[in-house]
Amino acid sequence: MKKLVLLLALVSQAVVGQSLSAAEKSVLTTVTAQMPQTESFLEKVVNINSGTLNKEGVRQVGDMMGDELKKLGFTIEWVTLPDSLNRAGHLVATRRGNKGKKLFLIGHLDTVFEKSLPMEPFTRLNDSTASGQGVNDMKGGDVLVIAALKALHTQKLLDDTSITVYFTGDEESSGGIESRLDFIERAKQSDAALAFETAQGLKSVTTGRRGSSSWTLTVKARSGHSSRIFSDLGYGAIYEAARVLTEFRRTLGQEQYLTFNPGLIVGGSEVHYDPQTAKADAIGKTNIVAGSTLVKGDLRFLGEAQKEKARVRMQEIVEKSLPLTGSKITFADGIPSMEPSAANDKLRAVVDNVSRDMGFGPVTAGDPGSRGAGDVSFVAAYVPCLDGLGASGKGAHSIEETMNMAEFPKLIQRTAILLYRLTR
Ligand SMILES: [Zn+2]
Repeated sequence: MKKLVLLLALVSQAVVGQSLSAAEKSVLTTVTAQMPQTESFLEKVVNINSGTLNKEGVRQVGDMMGDELKKLGFTIEWVTLPDSLNRAGHLVATRRGNKGKKLFLIGHLDTVFEKSLPMEPFTRLNDSTASGQGVNDMKGGDVLVIAALKALHTQKLLDDTSITVYFTGDEESSGGIESRLDFIERAKQSDAALAFETAQGLKSVTTGRRGSSSWTLTVKARSGHSSRIFSDLGYGAIYEAARVLTEFRRTLGQEQYLTFNPGLIVGGSEVHYDPQTAKADAIGKTNIVAGSTLVKGDLRFLGEAQKEKARVRMQEIVEKSLPLTGSKITFADGIPSMEPSAANDKLRAVVDNVSRDMGFGPVTAGDPGSRGAGDVSFVAAYVPCLDGLGASGKGAHSIEETMNMAEFPKLIQRTAILLYRLTR
């Protein structure tokens, strides 16, 4: 029995050792050898401000990444957008061939840190941590893509593959659906889309993420002397808005993956809201029953069915107005959700195999509720996809943002082998 156990242990050892091919092993070594260049490139691009509205900065970062991809045999182009959108456009790098799957790799060049904020340069805090604006969200992810492709190119393993690298310039503050038409069109021509937003370590990837949308509640009511509220003047617009919001939470607040956040409310005799600045003002007095209330909120969901069902329920609640008040709700679409699917899970299984073969253990599907919306969601309805393949780290969208530099080489290696296997 002991012998058998020993034998099994030896066999399984041998399986791990043998599960990477000679070509794959040389890719891993190449990634490691190129790490100093990879890190210095990361430092350079983090130190250029590319807040979404800093169009020159976004283009500069894109040009630097484009130059790198050009060296790897990619054809580079900029997708420009109408001036009215006030966005930098997108960097697209392509190479065409006949081997394996046609891949669509997604990143973004912009960060939430606009030029008006104080610059936080790339800083190596210790062996395993670096800080800087957009370091994990997601310049680290973009650099990871380039580093993985570079290792494959060095080993001549990109020859005859079909890969599109699409780095958008306005993920953090989108110019709207018009800014994603080309993105969607190109993704449709691929067999798999891989997105490199922040990774949650080496143990999970994203097979589903929620979508986001918005709503506006407008309430009108009979106004007049406050002493007549609850009687012939009804309830006023503020009590009615409070009723609607409380009912929303009471009836829909426990549904898995569904959240809706009233982010702004104004009420009084008169209210005014400016969508350009997201500023609102109101005039009202304590002895006057409020005639108007306005509420702006979001709605996050997994799957169109959940979104539609929630909208119907919210509409029903809105219609049961208190006496002498009337509420109206309007909904607006934002980013669709990426629904977990069998096809997405098949891609996850490929990552899982790569990870096990590299000795990093299994890779599971992350909780769809744990992530916000992302660019990959625009194409999730058309092509199998994964997200969360980028650099790992913490504190995205804040000055606390850091990146895990110890996991970075491993994540680059994992992606390099993943791309290699998908393009055979
Ligand atoms: Zn991001």
